Amino acid sequence: MSVRVRFAPSPTGFMHMGNARTALFNWLYARHVGGTFLLRIEDTDRERSTKEAVQVIYDSLKWMGLDWDEDVIFQSDRLDVYRDVANRLIDAGFAYRCTCTREELEAIKVRMEAETGQKRYDRTCRDKKQGPDCGEHVIRFATPITGESAFEDLIQGSILKQQEELDDFIMMRTDGTPTYQFAVVVDDEKMRITHVIRGVDHIDNTHDQLNLYRALGFTPPQFAHAPRILGLSKRKGSPSVEYYRQAMGLTREGLLNYIVRLGWSHGDQEIFSMEELIAAFDLKDVNRASGNFDDVKLAWVNEQQLRKIPLELLADYVLPYFQEKGLNPEKGPWFYRMLDVIRLRATHLGDFVDRCDYFFNDIKEYEEKAAKKHLKSAMTPVLLELADRFEKLGEWTEEAIAAVMTRLCEEKDTKLGKIAQPARVALSGCAMTPGIYETIWLIGRERTVSRLKAATQWIAENDQT
Ligand code: GLU
Repeated sequence: MSVRVRFAPSPTGFMHMGNARTALFNWLYARHVGGTFLLRIEDTDRERSTKEAVQVIYDSLKWMGLDWDEDVIFQSDRLDVYRDVANRLIDAGFAYRCTCTREELEAIKVRMEAETGQKRYDRTCRDKKQGPDCGEHVIRFATPITGESAFEDLIQGSILKQQEELDDFIMMRTDGTPTYQFAVVVDDEKMRITHVIRGVDHIDNTHDQLNLYRALGFTPPQFAHAPRILGLSKRKGSPSVEYYRQAMGLTREGLLNYIVRLGWSHGDQEIFSMEELIAAFDLKDVNRASGNFDDVKLAWVNEQQLRKIPLELLADYVLPYFQEKGLNPEKGPWFYRMLDVIRLRATHLGDFVDRCDYFFNDIKEYEEKAAKKHLKSAMTPVLLELADRFEKLGEWTEEAIAAVMTRLCEEKDTKLGKIAQPARVALSGCAMTPGIYETIWLIGRERTVSRLKAATQWIAENDQT
C-alpha cells in the first residue's frame, strides 16, 4: 500500500512554525518512502478563511520547497458530503440532532462540572430521536458510553482513554458547516490517507476520530503525533515562516534544517542538505521529547547552510537584497567569489549586501579609529610600492597578489599584518574585511591601485605624526 499523507492547515493568515514543521515532516516522509503528499485547506470557518490567508499557505509552502501532489482539497467545496455522511450516521444511530440552546448548554456544563468534574454535555438530546424539522440544531456524535479507546501512536506509543471521559462532540454546527473533528475523518478517508502526522496537541482528538472511523466502517490511518515546540509564545516577533524569511533573512535550507531537528534526530548530525533529509527522515526517529525553539541555534544553522549551499543558489537568494540597494551585480565568477568570501562570516541573507559596499563603491570616508591606527606617514612608501607592483603585475590572480605581498614583506623584513592592515583600510575604509588577497582581487587592479594612492594622499593631508 503506498503511503499517502496530508498537510491540513486552517487558513489563519500566517504559517506558524509548528505548522511549518508538520508540513515538513509530512513532506519528508512522503518523499522518503516515495509516497504522496497532499494539501487540504480546512476552511470551514468562513470568517477567517479569506483568499489572502490561503495564499499565505501556498506562498509559505512554495518558499519552503514543499511541493504537493494532486489537486488541493478545500473543505468548503465539500459541505454536501459532510451533510450526507452526518445524516447517514444519524440514520444508523451513531449521531443525533441536539436542540439545546446556548443558555441551556451553559447551565448543563456548570452542573456537569460540579457533578463529574468535567465541563461537558449531559446527552439530554441523545435519545430524543429528533428529526430534521426539529428547528435550529447541531448534530452530535453518540460516543460509546463504556469501554476504552486505545491506539498505537507511531511516535507517542500506546495511548489509552476511557470512553466515559469523552464527550458527545458536535459534528455539524447550526449553520450546516462541519466541525474539524468530523470533517477530518470524512476527508482523510476520502483522500485515502495512510498516515496522519500532526502535532501532539491533537492526540486527544484522535479518540473521537477513531470512534467516528468505527461508526463509519472506515479503516483508520496510522497516527504519528510530533512533540510540542516550546518557547515560541515567549518570542518577540511572530513565529511565522514569513517573519523568518522577510525580517530575519533566513534561507529556506536554514529554516527547514532547524525545524526538522525540533523533534527528529539522525545520530548527531546537525546540518543536512534537502537530499540528505529526504534520505534520512523516518518517523521512527521522531522523539517524544519537546523541542525548544532557540533563535541563537537557528542563526547558527542558517550560517552553516549559507556556507554549504551552491553559490548559484546563494546568488539567487541575495540578489534581491542588492537590487533593493540599487546594486545590480551580474551573476558570474566575480560575484560568486565575493559571495563565497563573505559567506564565511554571514549569518543572514541581508549581511551580504551590508558587508560589501567597498566592492562596489569607492571609499567616501575611512573609519576613524582604523585610519588613525593604520594610515601613518611611515606607511606611505610601502603603500606606493604596493600600488606600483600591482600596477605592473602580469596576471591578476589571488596567487599572484599573495606573491607580491609576501615578497614585499620579505624585502622589508616585516610581518604580513604590518602591510596588510594599512592596505585593508586603504582599500575598504575599515579594519575588518575578508582575507586580504581575495579582498584585493575582488576590488580589482585599477581600483586597488587608485585607492592605495588615495590613501597616501589622505595620509599627507591628515597624519600629523
Ligand atoms: N486544521 C488542523 C490544524 O491546523 C489539522 C489537524 C490535523 O492534521 O488533523 O491543526
